[in-house]
Amino acid sequence: MDCLFCKIVAGDIPAQKIYEDDQVIAFNDIAPQAPVHFLVIPKKHIATLHDLSEEDDKALAGHILFTAQRLAEERGCQEGFRVVMNCNDLGGQTVYHIHMHVLGQRQMHWPPG
Ligand code: ADP
Repeated sequence: MDCLFCKIVAGDIPAQKIYEDDQVIAFNDIAPQAPVHFLVIPKKHIATLHDLSEEDDKALAGHILFTAQRLAEERGCQEGFRVVMNCNDLGGQTVYHIHMHVLGQRQMHWPPG
């Protein structure tokens, strides 16, 4: 499959993995936008948030969120952090395999660009 993040899941492209289990992996973003910036992704290929199924993926979606929470806290983000999921071109998505950005260890601002 011609998907960058599926290749990271398969180990065909290297990544700085920080966590892996049977459902998800997390790895540092290659172009960090904060001192802490990692991505949590499902191993299963799901292209965009539009493709996430309430019927089939509810537990997986929760697992992504709680993995992000735990890893952020382990990385010193107890005082706060930001999660971002960009959906489709208008939402700023460039890699079409859903991923939760987790950013921390700097002051965040609103609104995002
Ligand atoms: P954007 O590129 O606008 O942030 P996305 O929400 O689709 O859009 O995010 C894709 C993210 O994946 C980017 O933050 C990018 O730096 C990151 N990325 C791309 N290739 C790799 C890679 N090989 N390893 C780690 N992160 C990557």
